[in-house]
Amino acid sequence: MPASTERGIYRDPPLRLINPQGRSPVLLVCEHASRYIPAELEQLGLDEAASREHIAWDIGALALAETLAERLDAPLLAAGYSRLLIDLNRPLTAPDSIPEHSEIYPIPGNRGLSEANRIERQRQLFEPFHRTLGELIDQRLADGLPLRLVGVHSFTPCYRGVQRPWEAGVLFGRAERYARRIIEGLRRDGGEIGANQPYDIDPAEDMTVPVHGDERGIDAVLIEIRNDGLRDPSGVAAWAERLYPWL
Ligand SMILES: [Zn+2]
Repeated sequence: MPASTERGIYRDPPLRLINPQGRSPVLLVCEHASRYIPAELEQLGLDEAASREHIAWDIGALALAETLAERLDAPLLAAGYSRLLIDLNRPLTAPDSIPEHSEIYPIPGNRGLSEANRIERQRQLFEPFHRTLGELIDQRLADGLPLRLVGVHSFTPCYRGVQRPWEAGVLFGRAERYARRIIEGLRRDGGEIGANQPYDIDPAEDMTVPVHGDERGIDAVLIEIRNDGLRDPSGVAAWAERLYPWL
């Protein structure tokens, strides 16, 4: 059977690897880079506005990650599909690995999903991403190169009707020293920077930091930027300039 048929409706690549030969110790990961949902899934029953908004992806995160990849000469692994299909930054055992709700929106296309469809998303989207990330890490370690993992995300300024005060947050588990360096660096410019805010790292709910970082003894953080700071190219460029010296 030709490969295109084996991939079913997931014909587009599940991931993009940008600047794979980058020489920085930083390896950038952008799990919520894309809002792409194959046409056959009819936007999972969401209306156009909902599927364009932050529930489908992290607005501005890919642009920031790409700018950082260039600035740092770092490799970047980015998702090719929307997190609503399967969330690459959650373990498969998390209840909202394939969410039936996101904030105020029900996601009709994920309700009553068959086991076969669930396994297909795991096999076509989740497994290649994490296999590639694992291999990138293995290669760096085998080459004796230093390595730090940085997840690049964005969050919405207002969640369930509550305004969030942080401009950005740095989320961490075991890599507290590395995280503190970034937090202190960003705080020099003023502005409110969260430490494990607006979320924290929970091995039951997070994937990249606990599994690829903390469990392997590699410094790993997740950077969250409030998405009103990433809505245009000048905002993205400003955040990249602010962040890169501390990574
Ligand atoms: Zn995210």
